[in-house]
Amino acid sequence: MNGIPDSQPTPDPIDLLIVEDEARFLESTRLLLAGTVDRIDVAGSVTEALSLLATREYALALIDLRLPDASGHEIMAFLRTHQPDCRAIVLSGDPRIEAAIQSLRMGAHDYLRKPCEPEEIVKAVRNAARGYRLERDHARMTQRLEQSEHWHRLLVNISPDVIYTLDAEGRFTFLNDSIASTLGFPRDELVGHDYLTIVPPGEAENARHRLNERRTGARATRNFELRLKRRPATGVKTDAASAGTAEEAQAVVELSSLGMYRPGVQGKGEFLGSYGIIRDIGERKRAEATITFQAYHDLLTGLPNRALFKDRLGQAIVQAKRHGQTLATLFLDMDRFKMVNDTLGHLVGDALLQAVGQRLRVCLREGDTLSRIGGDEFMLLLPQIRSRENAAAIADKILSALRQPFHIEGNELYVGMSIGIAIYPDDGEDIETLVKHADIAMYHAKDNGRNNYRFFSSELRNSLTGRLVLENEMRHALDNGEFELYYQPRVDIDSRHIRGMEALVRWNHPTRGLVTPDDFIPIAEECGLIAPIGDWVLDAACGQARRWRDAALPPVTLSINLSPRQIEHPRFAERFGEQVRQYMDDGHGIEIEITENTLMRDTEGAIGKLRKLADMGVEISIDDFGTGYSSLAYLKKLPVNTIKIDRAFIRDLDQPAGSGGEPAKAGSGPIVAGITAMAKGLDLGVVAEGVETRGQLDRISALGCDAYQGFLYSRAVDAEQATRMLDRQIH
Ligand code: C2E
Ligand code: MG
Ligand code: MG
Repeated sequence: MNGIPDSQPTPDPIDLLIVEDEARFLESTRLLLAGTVDRIDVAGSVTEALSLLATREYALALIDLRLPDASGHEIMAFLRTHQPDCRAIVLSGDPRIEAAIQSLRMGAHDYLRKPCEPEEIVKAVRNAARGYRLERDHARMTQRLEQSEHWHRLLVNISPDVIYTLDAEGRFTFLNDSIASTLGFPRDELVGHDYLTIVPPGEAENARHRLNERRTGARATRNFELRLKRRPATGVKTDAASAGTAEEAQAVVELSSLGMYRPGVQGKGEFLGSYGIIRDIGERKRAEATITFQAYHDLLTGLPNRALFKDRLGQAIVQAKRHGQTLATLFLDMDRFKMVNDTLGHLVGDALLQAVGQRLRVCLREGDTLSRIGGDEFMLLLPQIRSRENAAAIADKILSALRQPFHIEGNELYVGMSIGIAIYPDDGEDIETLVKHADIAMYHAKDNGRNNYRFFSSELRNSLTGRLVLENEMRHALDNGEFELYYQPRVDIDSRHIRGMEALVRWNHPTRGLVTPDDFIPIAEECGLIAPIGDWVLDAACGQARRWRDAALPPVTLSINLSPRQIEHPRFAERFGEQVRQYMDDGHGIEIEITENTLMRDTEGAIGKLRKLADMGVEISIDDFGTGYSSLAYLKKLPVNTIKIDRAFIRDLDQPAGSGGEPAKAGSGPIVAGITAMAKGLDLGVVAEGVETRGQLDRISALGCDAYQGFLYSRAVDAEQATRMLDRQIH
């Protein structure tokens, strides 16, 4: 490993200093030792010796005590403080034993008495050299060990994982620093204590033979998931109110551990204890949980999503089949949610969905699954119901819970719900069929006046008006050319001439016959099909306008209904212009009908786009006027030409006020009068919608309307009949 010296070092060189004033002896000793050591320096006096010792280190020094300038002891004193590793061999002519003792005290390694045999000198130097080398090796080894231990300690301590050892009785003998950050225990609080100190009560069984693992090799513990105790923070009371969550009190960890043995004779030696690594995987667990949650839940309401619902339904079906039980699938669709979204904005719409989700949850039992499967649609699974009445009771409960208004950002909102119910096994035995049939039943609940529930029945099966079915069929309808435009004339009240034609789309369904737009436009808007359908309508309408013009029939304005979704498209104005210009020079003779709600969504954006249309000659009318949430103020800002009073106001104009002696009923007369007066003030044309009787016509005429549409004159008719009507006007 880097940083840890590992290679075998070359043996240390042995440098010898000989201090001797007798030149002949000096020379002969030098020659004598030349082969024994690596280098020999010589000095004839203490001064010379000290100056050499100041410049280099020696392994050995052969020192004559009696020197001309001072005693050899001075050299030894110097060595003791400055070169303690250097081994001194003293040569002395002093025969007294005290002299020898003195020298050894001074730190001499060996003592030779002069005169001495050459072999004696060689032997002493050799011994000293070996001793020197051994000591150096030992010192180096010790240093290496210290270094290596330091490194290991460092590696162990910087590890984010907890590393521990236990003794054979399961008491901690070592823990690295991570124990404090992972479980909050200071090391000292655990060392010497049983491993169970960090195991929460419920987890003891799991931890046994794991933390104190005895096995080794492949059978030892590897990546074993476990919960460990976190040390409660000091100073924090752990009464019920302040007790932390389970997650705070415990850590989820992954453990790898093995037994440690003293090398033994027959494979296994004495068991020393366990060694283990504990990794905190809480973060990873949380991330995994979030990802799983997101994959199976609707993030707005936190409810299970379609995928999870189907999964639960699948399981419930298996259970029900096994135990011969009954279950119910409910398809819930909010009534008029689109209106809230369109007029009050998405934020309010979202908040409403959340609030509805919460209120629905309250109506359920444990084990029921409520899911939001998209837009304003919810699905509910009631496993194990005893009878159909059970399901009906829950549906009733939901409807009555929704009777209380929701208060969202200062708005008081009422929510209706249409509910379809399909029962396993009567109405279907698999997920798809149950969902489809609940959907169909829901659709019939909507047809039945909304805000009620309906069970699926085999009669409904044939009508097949389910939402999902419809959505699919609508996609094919475009390709198969099943859409058709009908036209309803707009008649001038004074001249009684047809002034315009409103294009109203119809769907010639292969099995259901003529489907009216109220039944499919809202769905087309939700599933995005409104764009291609709208394009088709515009194209067909412009084509018809062109043909009437070419046939030299009386000029009429052709009105086209637009959905807010179409106008929302960023390039709406440009695309509209391009399509119109395929048939004519500009937009003259074309009128668009938009509702007040369209303008409320993105007023500034819508105004800009509508201006562009107006600039190319397109007229603009406000459809269903009086039913939206808007104020009249915006009308001034818009390039509007006409307003169409909704037929709800026209309907009860019939009863002549105060007729038959009854007290005068205000009715909608004043409203129509007010709208008309206001429109006149703004220089706008006024059209009455849905005029069915002569009486209504008289009233709107008296109230100042300019034109009307309605069954009184004609229903919407196909292109051929509309053409004949126009033709009749000239002949
Ligand atoms: P709208 O634009 O208000 O159209 C008038 C609706 O009232 C038409 O219904 C028409 O047939 C009906 N109506 C006309 N006179 C009378 C009457 O005297 N009495 C009664 N009770 N009803 C009458 P329709 O054709 O079913 O269209 C319904 C709505 O669908 C339209 O209301 C319009 O908002 C929408 N729509 C129709 N065609 C299109 C289209 O091409 N695109 C878009 N986005 N919406 C369309
Ligand atoms: Mg209209
Ligand atoms: Mg209308």
